Amino acid sequence: MSTRSPDHHDTVVIGGAVMGSSVAYWLSQNPDYDGSVLVVEPDPTYERSSTTLSEASIRHQFSTPVNISLSRFATEFFADFHDHVQVDGESPDLGFRETGYLFLATEAGMPTLLMNHEVQKACGAEVALLTPAEISDRFGYMRVDDLAGGSLGLRHEGTLDAYSLMQGFRRRARHNGVEYVEDRVVGLTLNNSRNLVTHVELASGRVIGCGRVVNCAGPRGRWISEMAGLPLPVEPRIRSVFQFACRERLEGAPLPLTIDPTGLHVRTEPPHYLAGIPPDPDTEVDPDDFRVRHDDWEERVWPTLASRIPQFERIRVTQTWAGHYAYNTLDTNAVIGPAEQVPNFFFANGFSGHGLQQSPGVGRGVSELITYGAYRTLDLTQLGYGRIVAGEPFPEQAII
Ligand SMILES: Cc1cc2nc3c(=O)[nH]c(=O)nc-3n(C[C@H](O)[C@H](O)[C@H](O)COP(=O)(O)OP(=O)(O)OC[C@H]3O[C@@H](n4cnc5c(N)ncnc54)[C@H](O)[C@@H]3O)c2cc1C
Repeated sequence: MSTRSPDHHDTVVIGGAVMGSSVAYWLSQNPDYDGSVLVVEPDPTYERSSTTLSEASIRHQFSTPVNISLSRFATEFFADFHDHVQVDGESPDLGFRETGYLFLATEAGMPTLLMNHEVQKACGAEVALLTPAEISDRFGYMRVDDLAGGSLGLRHEGTLDAYSLMQGFRRRARHNGVEYVEDRVVGLTLNNSRNLVTHVELASGRVIGCGRVVNCAGPRGRWISEMAGLPLPVEPRIRSVFQFACRERLEGAPLPLTIDPTGLHVRTEPPHYLAGIPPDPDTEVDPDDFRVRHDDWEERVWPTLASRIPQFERIRVTQTWAGHYAYNTLDTNAVIGPAEQVPNFFFANGFSGHGLQQSPGVGRGVSELITYGAYRTLDLTQLGYGRIVAGEPFPEQAII
């Protein structure tokens, strides 16, 4: 990596949480990338980024092969996380716990479950279909009388520490020479033909010349792309997280991250549990709105928990918080790569609730596009901006 004058950087990454830091990491690790990298991030505490507010879980149970491949790569990357990100022999502890995911289905949900299962098996995911009786055998505390089946991840699915993942990328990127600046992007200058970004304007008044920009602004990504005249169907949507304690032990196999047919999910967070459900209606919110939807706990989360697991009748909320999905309203899938209309503007947006686990693969992919002009490892073309312009959805069915 080379360094450039303070007023010009070859790559300016907008947003320095997990995705921006992954892009910076992969660029700075690649000896073939001969340029400088500046990451612009307004909040060095990351208190309000989706990354640190995430439930930080990884699964291989998606409906599209490209998303399964991204998770499989993340699994490989996590296995040697220490070696990948260490600086002077030290790295943050990823704290991976292999708990599995369990998707439950009623009769109505079985066709989708079976279809996804076929795709997952074909992609090498280690998953098993369970009958209601098999679910009951393993997880004796779970009510199954309304269910027609379930899909359980047998390996590589679970939870990790989101901050450590981001911190690992960030620390190593900085060690490699990437510069982070505490500032906010407020505008982009384009050339006269409006097909190249020439400068990035910051809230401090600083203006930085750039070779290219990468949009990693999470739930605010749409506003960054609009600065370049590029519409992006991504909006902030609130997700409340409820942590609770239950006195009674659940006898049987440990509770996996379980997705109820109602849309509720629950997982362990030892010694407690975490649960959430998408709000109804699920619409765009102000990106500064972090209000926990407590009504959802009373009216939807607790009753559903208690009806699926009777021990959850008697529980106590211990902590709550809310964060935002960067929700792609076209097809709930990520948008990755350059815009044909402005080829030096790169997207890494719209992760719709599964971006943490995709950060290793997406960062690597974007770095390949920048360095070589093409994907070298995992082909992420299906997630390109072209489909957005054409209005042709590439849907992911397994959204939590
Ligand atoms: C409750 C919840 C649960 C989740 N659970 C999971 C899960 O289990 N598994 C999973 O894989 N994913 C999960 N996600 C999604 C995951 O957290 C996100 O997809 C991922 O963190 C996205 O990372 P990011 O870097 O793109 O965005 P963010 O983490 O939001 O970072 C964007 C950064 O851009 C910065 N920024 C914004 N505007 C500007 C600007 N104008 N200039 C410069 N910088 C700017 C922000 O300060 C922020 O730090 C969850 C999300 C939530 C909210």
